[in-house]
Amino acid sequence: MKPLKIDITNIRREIAAEQSFDLKWIPGDMTWQGEPLRFRDPWHLKGRIFNEGDVLLLTADVEGNIILQCGACLESYVQDLDFPIEARLKSAPDQENPDYFVYKGNEVDLSEIVLEFLLSELPIRRRCREDCKGLCPVCGANRNDGECSCNGTKDPELTVDERLKSLRDYFSNK
Ligand SMILES: [Zn+2]
Ligand SMILES: [Zn+2]
Repeated sequence: MKPLKIDITNIRREIAAEQSFDLKWIPGDMTWQGEPLRFRDPWHLKGRIFNEGDVLLLTADVEGNIILQCGACLESYVQDLDFPIEARLKSAPDQENPDYFVYKGNEVDLSEIVLEFLLSELPIRRRCREDCKGLCPVCGANRNDGECSCNGTKDPELTVDERLKSLRDYFSNK
């Protein structure tokens, strides 16, 4: 993941001072929970860091897209995301409150913070489009591309398998 550093020298020692930012950032491809997350276009981050004394308050609007895999047809698709961020930062880890992010010296690295919010915004149900038809359970063709070669004909093997399965389930519950 590419760092995204903001220089806070100007607001570090002055309570109520604020530093605004308006930047573009490409997070860099990564793997998360065994799934590849790919980024093609720059993300837009617009916000400010406000010095509250002990704590720096970060607020921002984040907008961009990520390339995910459709859960039905398995094709890659572009998922747009747009979300707000509100985070509090301290110069050292706070043992009693792990919700604080930590900054070092005169720099705040936004990348980790943005990524944490970004991951929580990922849709659980991933679809290339609302009406994705998915794969044909018989021949495996992508049904969004039109009628598949098997033409929807039911494979007799599959039908038998289904029956056997319910029979097996029936007995295993006894
Ligand atoms: Zn799909
Ligand atoms: Zn088919």
